[in-house]
Amino acid sequence: MKLKICYYGNPILRKKTEKVTEVTDEIRELATEMIEALDYFKGIGLAANQVGSLHRFFVLRRYIHLPDGTWSVSEPYVYINPKILEHSKETWVDEEGCLSIPKLRLPVERPLKIKVESMRLDGSMVIEEVEGLNARVILHENDHLNGVLYIDRVEEKHLKPVEKQLREIKKTYS
Ligand SMILES: [Zn+2]
Repeated sequence: MKLKICYYGNPILRKKTEKVTEVTDEIRELATEMIEALDYFKGIGLAANQVGSLHRFFVLRRYIHLPDGTWSVSEPYVYINPKILEHSKETWVDEEGCLSIPKLRLPVERPLKIKVESMRLDGSMVIEEVEGLNARVILHENDHLNGVLYIDRVEEKHLKPVEKQLREIKKTYS
């Protein structure tokens, strides 16, 4: 594995990433390596600043609900310069985890549906309406690009009991 994950406590996770003005070979290569890292670490989404780059993009695989009730994941997608155009007033709460904050899962409230615009590696612009878990992943990764972590959105009552664990993560991985 070529890339290293930046863990909670690393200042790059608090940086706002910079807009990609041109899809260069560097971006394409990094995206490929990030997809490898995503699968290696068994994540579903990964933002560039989680691997030490300040380019404004993330990679993800979509959750696919199969007819037999089990879940699978899609081919990988690259979201460059994503913009959340709309989000529903309706929200839902579910547990999230993050490759940069190992061994922790906490409930986060997010909009149920979003409309998101982004660019693909071939330069095409895509506008999608996404809901549920897949919207959650996009919002989580989009937060990363703005230097925001999901624990920033966790209610105090859920955060309090894991404060020690968070400090440990900072110590262990930084
Ligand atoms: Zn994350």
